[in-house]
Parts: sequence; C-alpha cells; structure tokens
Amino acid sequence: MRLSRYFLPVLKETPAEAQIVSHRLMLRAGMIRQASAGIYSWLPLGYRVLTRIARIVNEEQVRAGHIPMLMPTLQSADLWRESGRYDDYGEEMLRIRDRHDRDMLYGPTNEELITDIFRSYVGSYRQLPLTLYHIQWKFRDEIRPRFGVMRGREFLMKDGYNFDLTREDALHAYNRHLVSYLRTYERMGLQAIPMRADSGPIGGEDTHEFLVLAETGESEVFYDAEITDLKFGDRAIDYDDRAQCQAVLEEFTSRYARTDETHDEAVFAQVPEERRRKARGIEVGQIFYFGTKYSEPMGATVQGPDGKPVPVHMGSHGIGVSRLMGAIIEASHDERGIIWPEGVTPFHVGIVNLKQGDGEADAACERLYGELSALGLEPLYDDRDERAGAKFATMDLIGLPWRITVGPRGLKAGVVEVTDRRTGASEEMTPEAAVARID
Ligand code: ATP
Ligand code: MG
Ligand code: MG
Ligand code: MG
Repeated sequence: MRLSRYFLPVLKETPAEAQIVSHRLMLRAGMIRQASAGIYSWLPLGYRVLTRIARIVNEEQVRAGHIPMLMPTLQSADLWRESGRYDDYGEEMLRIRDRHDRDMLYGPTNEELITDIFRSYVGSYRQLPLTLYHIQWKFRDEIRPRFGVMRGREFLMKDGYNFDLTREDALHAYNRHLVSYLRTYERMGLQAIPMRADSGPIGGEDTHEFLVLAETGESEVFYDAEITDLKFGDRAIDYDDRAQCQAVLEEFTSRYARTDETHDEAVFAQVPEERRRKARGIEVGQIFYFGTKYSEPMGATVQGPDGKPVPVHMGSHGIGVSRLMGAIIEASHDERGIIWPEGVTPFHVGIVNLKQGDGEADAACERLYGELSALGLEPLYDDRDERAGAKFATMDLIGLPWRITVGPRGLKAGVVEVTDRRTGASEEMTPEAAVARID
C-alpha cells in the first residue's frame, strides 16, 4: 500500500474523550471512529487488524476441528421465549419490532439460534460430536459503553457451540476450546490466563474466563504468580486425544487464578504469600459447559445408542474479537504509539522515503516495495512529500514491527536503515539484506 493513496486519518491532537491508552491510540492512528455511543466504524487500518485477529481465531478453531458458519445478527424473540431468556436477559438486550409487529432482537449471543438449527437437522448420536461456530457482530446495550472497542455496544465476537452425547464428551469439547484459546491468544502476542469465573446469564457449572493482565482492565483478579510462567508455545497437540487436552487443562488451571466473582480468601491463603497477586485484567474470552440447560427446554435431543432420545450436552465458547484489539494495544505500546505483534500487524513493514522526488531514493523504495510484496509481505510505503520527522512519527504511531528508511545519503554508501519498532534499534545494511531480515 502506498500511503499517498491510502486512507489513514491520523489525528494530531490526543482526543480528550479517551480515558485509556488503547482507545487514545486507536483514535489517533485513524483506526476507528465512533458512530454513536459504543458503536464504531472500522476505518481501513483498524479493519485490517480486525481481519488479522479474526483470521487467527478462525485458523485455530478449524485446527481444533470446529466448523465455521454464519448466523444473522437479528433474531426472532420466539426462540428466546422457548429458552426462557427473553424475559431474563434484561436491559442489555436490544429489542426491535418489525412492520408486522413481530418481536425481534439484535443477538447478544446465539445459544437459542444454534440450538434451533441443531434440533432441526440432527437426530442421532452418530452425528456427534459437533461444534459449530461463527464470528459475528453482537449487540449488548451496555449501561456504560467505554474504553472504545473494549466495552462497545456493537462488537465482534467469535462464539462456538458444542453438541455432545454425554457429559464426558462435552467436557472434552470444553478442554479442546481451552487449548485452542491458549494457542489463539499466544499467536496474538498475548498472555491470557484462564481463571475460574462465574457463568452469568449464559448459565452452567464449569466456566473459565481468559484474562489479559492490565491496569486498565475492568475485572479484579487474584492469582498465584507461578501461573504467569506457563506458556503453551509451539508444542504439538492432537485435539482428539482426550488425555492430552485434559493434561493441558490441568496444567493451566490447577494453580489459584480467579476473578472477584469466585475469589475465595480462605483458599487463596494457601498460596505462599510471596506468590499471591491481586491485579486487574481484561476479559478476552470465556468458555462454558452448561449441560442440558438449553437442549432440554428446546427439545434438542438425539437418539442414543439404545434408541432412546437424550438431550444433548452443550457448551458455548466466546472470544471478544474486537475487544482483543484494545487488549493487544494495552499490552504492547510505548509513549510514541502502538507496537503490533507480528501476528496481527496491519502491515509487515513501513518504507520511509526521506527524499520523495529524488530519483534514486524513489527508485530504491519502489524496488524494495516490489521485492517485499513479491515475498507475500505487505509493506506500507510512505511516499508522501512530508518531512522525515512527520513520517517517522506516523510510522511509530501505527506501530509496524519494522521500518526501512531510505535516503540519498545512505544509498550513496549502498545502504538503507532497518529499525525494529519494539527495541528502537537501527542497523544499516544493503537493500537485499533488509528484505532478507524482514522476511
Ligand atoms: P464482560 O464481563 O466484559 O461484560 P461478558 O462476560 O458479558 O463480558 P461473554 O458473554 O463472556 O461476555 O462474551 C464473550 C466475550 O465477548 C467476552 O469474553 C469479551 O471478550 C467479549 N465482550 C463481551 N461484552 C463485550 C462488549 N460490550 N464489548 C466488547 N467485547 C465484549
Ligand atoms: Mg457483560
Ligand atoms: Mg464477564
Ligand atoms: Mg464472560
């Protein structure tokens, strides 16, 4: 992408309404624009990152054997009356009436809709196990939308639903989700800690929330410091291997880690004092096992091996796709701007031309642009006729992991400068070496 032809409305001033750094940086970097309270337009740069986050979520879900689909945002109230949640859900649900006076709602979650799909097509235990998911916009009429996309009213969520014959099978699905979530967050450069939580309006017995530690987080959390040493890393995992998934769950959930809703001082006191931590965190996902809570009232049964109908065991599993963008920035920035982890960066590398219009500098930039693109990397070439300082400030603000600086003086010596956004370290090298470094 050439910056002169892109749409990157960077703000010079720090927006006064933004209270936390991720919100400020997203506004300044021209990533989002508020359309109304808690509802945002995703400008091109923000949209690129959102797409990258969603792609990682998708890849890890498919790897775990889960099947992507897409359900609508608007739902009929009838299904929610069947589950009993139409009245229970309360003010957070946006209720709409259509021209025929039918009660509709903008889905805050999809247990009812997916259960209806399931019961319409699946009749035998032989079609199980089944996990379906989608990445779709949700609406929750949050009483206090704030912190930009962190607590929006309209937000993008990945929500998945497992259908299993037995409790044991459904618990395996739960474990599978836990493992796939660990991988997902790590690929985004985040440490998200599974913590025992409360199930809220989704209901159920087993549930973990995934929290990214951050001072600006809205959740209060208590944990054993040892937990922050755990890393899933690039170990191999067979998602069909129950013992293996169970072992990962045990490894990551056996130490004390709870949100304030489930925090228990007496149990916490058993953690050695020097390891006890009280902190704040951002909830970036949650997994639930809730058994037959929806399948029973909604008649989602299958014929079991003995020919008798049994209600399926279910769980639901959500990742806050749009909230993650805020969480990543909270975890990775400095005073000059965002520092994108490689996995989600909107462009891989920025090219800064120090002297636009200089024949040699222009040609060298074009060559770099072509070579990087040919390797499948996406460069953002700042080809505007701007001062070097302004170009550097923009690159630092939007946080691409690498910058290649090209100027007539360096070119005379046959070199360009490669700068690592995270460390700030710069190194001069030939253009060929620069391409090889970034690839
Ligand atoms: P919160 O406690 O922050 O209100 P929740 O527990 O109500 O979240 P879930 O029903 O567990 O949310 O939804 C799954 C995920 O969707 C959450 O873990 C979170 O990452 C994301 N999410 C929930 N509400 C919002 C929101 N208002 N804006 C952005 N993301 C959200
Ligand atoms: Mg909520
Ligand atoms: Mg919550
Ligand atoms: Mg939750």
